[in-house]
Amino acid sequence: MDKKKLRRKAQLECANWNTGYCLGCDFNIDKGYLKKNNWVPVFQYLDSEKAGKPCVVEEGCKYFDRFVVQ
Ligand code: SF4
Repeated sequence: MDKKKLRRKAQLECANWNTGYCLGCDFNIDKGYLKKNNWVPVFQYLDSEKAGKPCVVEEGCKYFDRFVVQ
């Protein structure tokens, strides 16, 4: 996907998009714990590297890859 399309997709579909800036919300799931116990708590956290800063989808964004792109 070219950079313009990536940015447009983030604008329309990313829950963290806020007028070109990122809210920085993300989730953490311990896959090892999940495999061992067949359940896992899901932790939500604020990514201080991204929160309140311009969207970086063109440079690569793990949240975007995991939750926005299908
Ligand atoms: S940096 Fe990633 S998570 Fe934040 S708004 Fe852009 S695509 Fe969404």
